[in-house]
Amino acid sequence: MDKHYDLIAIGGGSGGLSAAERAAMYGKKAAVIEHSRLGGTCVNVGCVPKKVMWNAGNIAHGLLDANDYGFDVKVNKFDWTELVKSRESYIAELNQWYQTSLTDSDIDLISGQAHFVDAHTVEVSGKKYQAEHIVIASGGMPMIPNVPGANHGITSDGFFARQQQPRRVAIVGGGYIAVELAGLLRALGSEVNLLLRREHFLGNFDAMLRETLMEEMLNKGVNIMPKFNVERVEKKTDGKLNIHCQGGHELLGIDTLIWAIGRAPNVAGLNIEAAGIHRDEHGFIVTDAFQNTNVASIYALGDVTGRAQLTPVAIAAARRLGDRLFNGQSERRLDYENIPSVVFSHPPIATVGLSEGQAREIHGDTVKIYQTRFTPMYYSMTRHKSSTAMKLVCVGAQEKIVGCHIIGQGADEMLQGFAVAIKMGATKADFDNTVAIHPTSAEELVTMK
Ligand SMILES: Cc1cc2nc3c(=O)[nH]c(=O)nc-3n(C[C@H](O)[C@H](O)[C@H](O)COP(=O)(O)OP(=O)(O)OC[C@H]3O[C@@H](n4cnc5c(N)ncnc54)[C@H](O)[C@@H]3O)c2cc1C
Repeated sequence: MDKHYDLIAIGGGSGGLSAAERAAMYGKKAAVIEHSRLGGTCVNVGCVPKKVMWNAGNIAHGLLDANDYGFDVKVNKFDWTELVKSRESYIAELNQWYQTSLTDSDIDLISGQAHFVDAHTVEVSGKKYQAEHIVIASGGMPMIPNVPGANHGITSDGFFARQQQPRRVAIVGGGYIAVELAGLLRALGSEVNLLLRREHFLGNFDAMLRETLMEEMLNKGVNIMPKFNVERVEKKTDGKLNIHCQGGHELLGIDTLIWAIGRAPNVAGLNIEAAGIHRDEHGFIVTDAFQNTNVASIYALGDVTGRAQLTPVAIAAARRLGDRLFNGQSERRLDYENIPSVVFSHPPIATVGLSEGQAREIHGDTVKIYQTRFTPMYYSMTRHKSSTAMKLVCVGAQEKIVGCHIIGQGADEMLQGFAVAIKMGATKADFDNTVAIHPTSAEELVTMK
């Protein structure tokens, strides 16, 4: 007989684990199906290893500044291999932690690749499992372009598998993953070429953020190559890569090429046609505001839906779905407005709400902008400088804050609290009425004129 559950989550990443945990919290019998390591993209090849490498980049910058603060510091070497070893052992601990947490919550882990048999049944390694509710949280995967020689490049997955530091790198892409990898590799001493299809990177971000970051990256020695459309990649006998682009431009002698051109939904092998689930023109699973697919009893959340592809979004959507299905909270759902996020660039970007451009399109002349740019006090002692820039996007007579954008040292830790205020509908007057914390960079957000 097929094994029966209240809820099956396909995917043991941020979304799937949270969906199963919430079901178990309400006393329901849940299972997670995962064919790889528990924790999904975030833990294994995303946020976690990325943040470790970003921290290492910050330490590299701190060491450069140390002499200016009176320390007699000489750095003999940076050992990439050793760092990767420690990072991976930390990740192995997290994998184990998830395993233990499933056991403690009495959630079954079914190891293997799931595919649909029908709307209530999935099959894994020849065994069938049925559930009242099935949550698809199968995530995404990095894309590789369809150009000759593309297979000589790696993706972010391959980057995290590198045991040796790449020396001469080309990163293709203009999204947050591309700029993050470029920033951390440069900070750790690699030569970095960032190849953009357009004039700019971070196309959906406020212009102030991308322009400031572009300046900062150029100052730190990242070679940014705009309008570089890769046409062909050629591997030479010495193993080096030559990258040829439309219009005859080329980049020669690269040792590592990283494609960071976007992520596609991970639905291969799921046989979602068997359940009759709709997908959009990019292959993402279509859901309504409650994470329902077009098939009753099947839900989708996280990266596979293509909406706000961030770990806390997948987790929040999953928990709210559990509250709705198993705790009678029939209107409970994730509000996708005003989701804060950070780009772990050097320096970091933190952003929530509308960019100035988006706000002007929606609200026209009622938009009022407050902005500032300065060099944080930390850099008053140092030869290496870095700027901070901030912008508040306000709307209407009340000056309701609809966007807050920060780039600079500490931005990553600065925004979370402000995001709460903005989500609650804060106005510029609320910010002005808040006493500043001195001396910090964040105080500028409540003292802008
Ligand atoms: C380089 C990088 C950096 C990132 N940095 C950040 C960051 O700093 N902050 C942030 O919030 N987000 C970040 N993200 C995004 C974040 O990792 C994702 O938004 C998040 O992991 C999505 O969770 P998910 O549950 O939707 O999917 P995933 O975490 O991808 O989990 C899906 C799981 O499903 C499994 N699976 C797929 N198909 C099947 C099947 N048929 N059977 C069984 N198992 C299956 C997969 O193996 C995977 O483990 C980053 C992503 C990348 C790639």
